[in-house]
Amino acid sequence: MTKYVFVTGGVVSSLGKGIAAASLAAILESRGLRVTMLKLDPYINVDPGTMSPFQHGEVFVTEDGAETDLDLGHYERFISARMHKVNNFTTGQIYESVLRKERRGDYLGKTVQVIPHITNEIQDFIARGAKAAWNGETDVAIVEIGGTVGDIESLPFLEAARQMSLRLGRNNAAFMHLTLVPFIASAGELKTKPTQHSVQKLREIGIYPNALLCRADRPIPDEERAKISLFSNVPLDAVISVWDSDSIYKIPSMLHKQGLDNLVCDALAISPPPADLSMWDRLVEAIEHPRNEVRIGMVGKYVDLTESYKSLSEALVHAGIHTNSRVAIEYIDSEVIEAEGTGCLEHLDAILVPGGFGKRGTEGKMAAIRYARENGVPYLGICLGMQLAVIEFARSVAKLEGANSTEFNPSTAHPVVALITEWQDREGKIERRDQSSDLGGTMRKGAQRCPVKPGSRAHAIYGNEVYERHRHRYEVNNVYVPRLEEAGMVISARTPTEQLPEIMELPDHPWFMGVQFHPEFTSTPRDGHPLFSSFITAALKRQEQHGKGKPA
Ligand code: GLN
Repeated sequence: MTKYVFVTGGVVSSLGKGIAAASLAAILESRGLRVTMLKLDPYINVDPGTMSPFQHGEVFVTEDGAETDLDLGHYERFISARMHKVNNFTTGQIYESVLRKERRGDYLGKTVQVIPHITNEIQDFIARGAKAAWNGETDVAIVEIGGTVGDIESLPFLEAARQMSLRLGRNNAAFMHLTLVPFIASAGELKTKPTQHSVQKLREIGIYPNALLCRADRPIPDEERAKISLFSNVPLDAVISVWDSDSIYKIPSMLHKQGLDNLVCDALAISPPPADLSMWDRLVEAIEHPRNEVRIGMVGKYVDLTESYKSLSEALVHAGIHTNSRVAIEYIDSEVIEAEGTGCLEHLDAILVPGGFGKRGTEGKMAAIRYARENGVPYLGICLGMQLAVIEFARSVAKLEGANSTEFNPSTAHPVVALITEWQDREGKIERRDQSSDLGGTMRKGAQRCPVKPGSRAHAIYGNEVYERHRHRYEVNNVYVPRLEEAGMVISARTPTEQLPEIMELPDHPWFMGVQFHPEFTSTPRDGHPLFSSFITAALKRQEQHGKGKPA
């Protein structure tokens, strides 16, 4: 039977609840348990796909094509269970489902209410998500409830968690609460009051946390921990200090050393073998003692909010771990390149253009791509970054003047990137799309298998097949591919059914690749990712040949 750990948050958001939950999951996994995770989002949007990355950070894409909260990315980086559509749901999805049942008459004319109908639906969704992993044999499902205690929005979720723990019976559910213990500079003290209040708020709705994780910028001394224990009625050993850390991969060991996993196992009345965090220790060791340092320029539009490139920056950290390097990422606003030219790229060891939407900044990104192409600087283009590399090559090398994507210029003379109107989805169903389709409704999404051309650089990296995740509408236009190939571009992978270009590369360049998918979603600290490792290795080689880049 699956046991549950509900993770709630108090005082403020952005304390790292997802990382804390994932770290607990990692420790439990190291104790031989089959663990999975869920994220419950109290907002009304049906999915985060159409939400601005400025507001919500990255949209993480699962293997089965769901656009989810970025916390699911952390889950996949910390544990081995893969996340699916059912591992993340919102208030909007719950209401949508309840309303559909109501319209169908499933409630037999009863008054449909938040309690029990919404709360029951939430519990059903939680159980469904827990069952999706490990062939239904999950030992522990860790359920992160978004928002903070006291929010009107998250109340039904907390109520559902309380009811579920009651329904499951003794020792089948545990609660972990993450709060803030701020340091007030003028008083020179850590303040425990906000934590006391947020635990009170939890108790008001009938939830008694088994463990309190107290976030502070420093370790919390025993005196303050004792105070928190007394006022919040949580045993002293269950008041755990979580201080700021320079690497998220240190958190599992920080929590384990304070006994969090034992607390949780006791609460769930299970006694798995002891934790083995040696893999995490090795990763941290590699992060802390790199032999080299490379500078990667990430040229994008959302550079103000690095959360919108979370998986990508993590993938670069992983590549660093696996190449003994520290990867310093410099975020460069492509509009600055438009205004001031490519001078700001000269000290970089490699350049990367990530995914993105919309015309703004694309010419600056193409200037950066051209700079990389002409100067032999390693270049990796992801999704939009691949499309722009194709456009830049079409214009400059294949002499297709004015080439563009129809996303940026619908009446371009040479639509080298365009919408294809019909394709088969993962289940083989025919999907259609056109310019006027609903936003978000018609993207190619999720993982797809496709063969790789022997002899290409992609083949040296991936072997015979790629299986990577997509999230985009536009495609490289096959009509133009022969002309691009003639000019020296190699398409090294194509989808098996529609022959859509998936990977492009330039064989006469030290390392220049564009991929239509998002490799960052499948990179983990444990295994790294062959594409990113190859990219960083190329950056190291460039540095060896051209000397260390000067700091900007
Ligand atoms: N805007 C491009 C498209 O829709 C690229 C999307 C992306 O980079 N994720 O195809």
